[in-house]
Amino acid sequence: MEDYRVKPHQKIDLAKDCDPNDYGEWKGKKAKGVARLTELRAELDALQQVLYAEHQHKVLVLIQAMDTAGKDGTIRAVFDGVNPQGVHVASFKVPTQIEADHDFLWRVHAQVPAKGELVVFNRSQYEQVLVVRVHNLEPEKEWRKHYQQINDFEKLLTDTGTTILKFFLNIDLDEQKQRLLERIDTPEKQWKFSPGDLPERKLWWQYMEAYQEAISQTSTEYAPWHIVPANHNWYRNLVVAEVIVEALKKLDMHYPQAAEDLDQYKKELNEEVIEKKEN
Ligand code: ATP
Ligand code: MG
Repeated sequence: MEDYRVKPHQKIDLAKDCDPNDYGEWKGKKAKGVARLTELRAELDALQQVLYAEHQHKVLVLIQAMDTAGKDGTIRAVFDGVNPQGVHVASFKVPTQIEADHDFLWRVHAQVPAKGELVVFNRSQYEQVLVVRVHNLEPEKEWRKHYQQINDFEKLLTDTGTTILKFFLNIDLDEQKQRLLERIDTPEKQWKFSPGDLPERKLWWQYMEAYQEAISQTSTEYAPWHIVPANHNWYRNLVVAEVIVEALKKLDMHYPQAAEDLDQYKKELNEEVIEKKEN
């Protein structure tokens, strides 16, 4: 899974170097892969409990992708089984007026994990160098500054105890077409289809250029990107879960020290008499 991690400031050519159909070592092993994901979910649940109890580390999982690549599906598959109190998902849509009136990191900073928390970003600060670039919502000299601003922001977060894992779910143009057609043809999925998805799709190659540069400029030692092959949902979920579980294990977390004299409290509980007061 380490293969999908982008080295600091590594140049990438998404079309050439990153196969959305890749299976790594799992080719032809879908059943095993799905079983492995079940194990990983259980591990993630256990790790999240210690994360919460220890109240030291902060974990930020950030997901970016083109429409239909499966941001929602990945979050559902990977975090299914994790205590809902322990995970928070923050989605970043078109900025509201008040958000747009602030700097672009204002709304993002407000959602970062505190000690003991795991937060998932569904879209993120990166929209400011993706959609903003592709649609010319800011002049180039403005959005270009955001690479460094994002790196500095992420450095601040990691310096203050946050583990950041960034994922780009990589599908190809043809897979997106199939998925859009499936949405149109399936009554339960029609709500997900937005006519606006088609004009966005026409900008595919501009988006790829924007993603390539953003990933290269902002993959750092402290906040690495992972380019996840995402044409096959089960493999996509497996890669994301595996990377998160590996990273959490490395934190070497422990439950806090128990209160002293537990035996004394046990004795007290066993011997207690609580009388009901009559009025
Ligand atoms: P998704 O497509 O993520 O599954 P959705 O279709 O339910 O979500 P949308 O209303 O499409 O929700 O919200 C996401 C939209 O907001 C995207 O088109 C995205 O590019 C846009 N967006 C997010 N951040 C910004 C930003 N900073 N500036 C402009 N547009 C943004
Ligand atoms: Mg959308």
